[in-house]
Amino acid sequence: MSCEFAHLDAVYVLGSLSPAARAEYERHLPGCEECSRAVRELAGLPGLLSKVPLEVVEPPGEHEPVPETLLPAVVSEAGAPSGGDAARSLPSSQRPPQSSPLP
Ligand SMILES: [Zn+2]
Repeated sequence: MSCEFAHLDAVYVLGSLSPAARAEYERHLPGCEECSRAVRELAGLPGLLSKVPLEVVEPPGEHEPVPETLLPAVVSEAGAPSGGDAARSLPSSQRPPQSSPLP
């Protein structure tokens, strides 16, 4: 409860301590249950932070919104019965009989 390093747990886990302070902190850590527990609890934090995509962290408003025409274009392309390379590359014998003929 009275550890002089207690306030450094998060700083240590985030790697923001100076090399000297970090060495000093690590030297005391094995003998300090309070800080050891704090470090264990915080140990997952840097990994979690690094998993956050950069665009999530950046302030909003700097990205153009998705154009409203994008979604309908994708939907119509995916839903077109005779469109798409997959349907075109099929041999005619494997094409579903109800599909409309290509132009
Ligand atoms: Zn301590």
